[in-house]
Amino acid sequence: MNRSNERDWHTIEVDSMVKQLGTDPLHGLGIEEVIARQKSYGKNTIETEERSRWYKLFARQFVDVLIFILLLAGVISIVIGEFIDAIAIFAIIILNGLLGFTQEWRAEKALESLKRLLAHTCKVRRGGEEHIIDSTTLVPGDLVFVEAGDQIPADLRLVTATNLKVDESLLTGESSSVDKNTQKVSAIDAEVSERKNILWMGTSVTNGRAKAVVVATGSQTEFGRIAKMTQSISKEKTPLQKKLGTFGKFLGVFAVAVSFLVSLIGWIRGQPLLDMFMTGVSLAVAIVPEGLPAVVTITFAIGIRAMVHRHALLRRLRAAETLGAATVICTDKTGTLTQNEMTVQSVWLRDHFLTVTGVGYSPRGELKLEGKVASIAEMRDLRDLLETAVKCNHASIFRTDTAWVRRGEPTEAALISLAKKGKYAQQDAFEVVCEFSFNSSRKRMTVVEKLRNGSPYMAHVKGAPEVILERAAWIQSNGRAIELDGVEKRRFQKGYKRLASMGLRTLCLARHSLQGSFDDEDRVENDLTIIGLVGLSDPPRPEVLNAVVKADQAGIRSIMVTGDSLETAVSVAGLVGLHPKEKLTGCDVDKLSDQELSKLLRSDILFARTTPEHKLRIVTLLQKQGEIAAMTGDGVNDAPALRKADIGIAMGKRGSDVAKGASDIVLTDDNFASIIDAIEEGRRQYENIRKFVHYLLTSNVGLVLAVIFTVLTGGPLILLPVQILWINLVTDGITAIALGLEPSEEDVMRQSPKDPNANIVDRYGMMGVFLIGSYIGLVAFYLFRDKLFDQGKVYAQTLAFCFVVTCETVNALNFRSLRHPLFRINFFSNVWLLVAIASSVAMQLAVVSVPILQRSFHTVPLSLRDWGLIVLISLPVLVVPELVKYRAYR
Ligand code: ATP
Repeated sequence: MNRSNERDWHTIEVDSMVKQLGTDPLHGLGIEEVIARQKSYGKNTIETEERSRWYKLFARQFVDVLIFILLLAGVISIVIGEFIDAIAIFAIIILNGLLGFTQEWRAEKALESLKRLLAHTCKVRRGGEEHIIDSTTLVPGDLVFVEAGDQIPADLRLVTATNLKVDESLLTGESSSVDKNTQKVSAIDAEVSERKNILWMGTSVTNGRAKAVVVATGSQTEFGRIAKMTQSISKEKTPLQKKLGTFGKFLGVFAVAVSFLVSLIGWIRGQPLLDMFMTGVSLAVAIVPEGLPAVVTITFAIGIRAMVHRHALLRRLRAAETLGAATVICTDKTGTLTQNEMTVQSVWLRDHFLTVTGVGYSPRGELKLEGKVASIAEMRDLRDLLETAVKCNHASIFRTDTAWVRRGEPTEAALISLAKKGKYAQQDAFEVVCEFSFNSSRKRMTVVEKLRNGSPYMAHVKGAPEVILERAAWIQSNGRAIELDGVEKRRFQKGYKRLASMGLRTLCLARHSLQGSFDDEDRVENDLTIIGLVGLSDPPRPEVLNAVVKADQAGIRSIMVTGDSLETAVSVAGLVGLHPKEKLTGCDVDKLSDQELSKLLRSDILFARTTPEHKLRIVTLLQKQGEIAAMTGDGVNDAPALRKADIGIAMGKRGSDVAKGASDIVLTDDNFASIIDAIEEGRRQYENIRKFVHYLLTSNVGLVLAVIFTVLTGGPLILLPVQILWINLVTDGITAIALGLEPSEEDVMRQSPKDPNANIVDRYGMMGVFLIGSYIGLVAFYLFRDKLFDQGKVYAQTLAFCFVVTCETVNALNFRSLRHPLFRINFFSNVWLLVAIASSVAMQLAVVSVPILQRSFHTVPLSLRDWGLIVLISLPVLVVPELVKYRAYR
């Protein structure tokens, strides 16, 4: 391949561009050539940020003021000859670091794999065959096909273009779409915006379609040069993370203040200064929830993976949390509530009504007129309808080993299947001179064909019946166009109603024979001759009925906002269990003031024949009412509504790149039921973080109170610094992470949505924290004091130490649910927590029984009786809260 001047592709003709790039504009590159080029050009990606290297991540765990203080405490221990203390402190620092490191590493890995899942795909022709490929595997010379809604996957030089318009705002700042064509641009130094024959990576197609050759990939693209790629998952903090950050900072300040006061009081009351310094440091380390950010990230990261299994890809971390708080879902119909498996069931012509047999996209089936097979040889109108259906179309159907499948839009594929059933065969290739694409605002599509004889051009049009009716002046009857007067209009509308009331999605086919110019949209799509209507079935997804009920029980309203007709929408709504009181069309919405519409939006409602602008208005008004609104979308024009919604949900299968780019979540199966699953997962994550925070606070309160009591009453310290650090490691570390893995509670979808502004710990939560914490602190203090005089300091400390660890381990069970007693949830459903508890107990046994650990932690072995006592007095920590939960949530 000759790469004379990489930047000047706009200045040369298509022929020489193709020659220089060593490609074939018909068949594309050969597969072997692609592999060879992939080796020399690398991936078509722009690395925005380097992934943290493991050693950097590990080192980061130690860059913390508290760790520095702890290190200082370790050094002081060496200086004063307390080598075992020093070893214990250093070991704890390293263990803590390792724990933090593994948590963050796992979180990063999860986010990485998510990024891979979000990769874009594009359509190429390689070795003469079309493939949908991951855009990162594109190489210069690849032949690419793009159409409205696609994001441009690399820098491309156009070979053919039909009514191509591109949004280049990302590169040029120009907000309106610009026209593109294949003509060579002479000026070598033309501005990016003037290079009309080049499509730039990262920009998106808003109209038309094109065939183009890749001229630059990855960092060689214009986008790569200015390194503005935005497809990575944003690293912004979620509101919960921010709230937890503030909470952590508060605890930090509190920790320093309490530790300082405790040390000061202890010193005043006669404790050695060095001992009190060490105690203060350990206490501060124990209070500060250093594990909090990592646990939150890992809970989210694991949650994101769980969502992937439930067919929801999160593009922003924040979405998981907002999802959990969603109060209303605005959903489109086609493909989300229904299967998007279209089959034409009926055909209406001015003079005839035909039924169609057959299933799916298979061409097996017949068109029947009053029970007899209809023949296109005898029915001119039917022949014309099928011809327009085939020509105004980009889909195809083909047979695999098991079934007939489609390539392209389901609606269009169903028309191809219909044409085959009607035995209409396209004779030769026809020449398309112009095309006006379909989008959900226009609700129509037109292809202009250059005819060989007679009239120079024929426009083949299809679209929503109301839209075509507005632009039609004629209707076809036995091959003749007759005037569309009042009587004919009523006749047409009757036919339309007949199809829609059968729950069918209706499409009108029309034509316009053109003289003169063919590229003025208004002229072409006017004065149309209606040929007929087709009614397509699209059965609802079976799982949606349950999902709608589940959403309802969870206090979430489901509102259908569809582009389809009112009759069809109402019929499908009934099938999926939606029973709206109010039913409005886009036209009705336009007539209402914001106040009137707001009022209606409070009740169960359905919207039909809407445009993306209506979606935006609806979501804005819902938000004004304080709702947390999720909105689905797939088209290019849906982007503003998706961005505006609290949770923008794009369809992974049929959604355009533009819609995906504007969304927070991409559904890989386009299914409404997956939204409900994702909400359940979002709620689980939020609840688990709350559980973890409650648990952490209780542990801290218990520990701090025990130390404060002993310091205030004088005498030896209840817990030594290494013991405090050990307790911190057990509670902040393993047990807490295990709590984050708690599965969803059975009734999580029977609760109303959480107020996103509510505090993580509410009044009752705070009370629980203080009551349990005070019990642990007081009993530990009593135990210690009781044994101090009879059995000595080390023994009393060991007993108090083991009691606190046992209580805090047992206490984790309380926080498996903030509402339900243990016996109501499956005890074995969180194996990780049981493992964490068992290993904490085993480690504690080791700490008091293994000689070397005894020396490090200053402990002595305890008798079976002592352990019995510890278990007995730890029991209330578990039993009392369980009883309270049992009574409160009976
Ligand atoms: P939803 O908004 O729930 O997905 P929808 O797919 O029917 O429903 P739109 O995609 O906005 O909504 O389509 C609106 C109407 O436009 C359809 O009811 C149909 O009459 C017409 N239409 C759909 N697809 C095409 C197409 N490819 N070409 C021409 N007209 C179409």
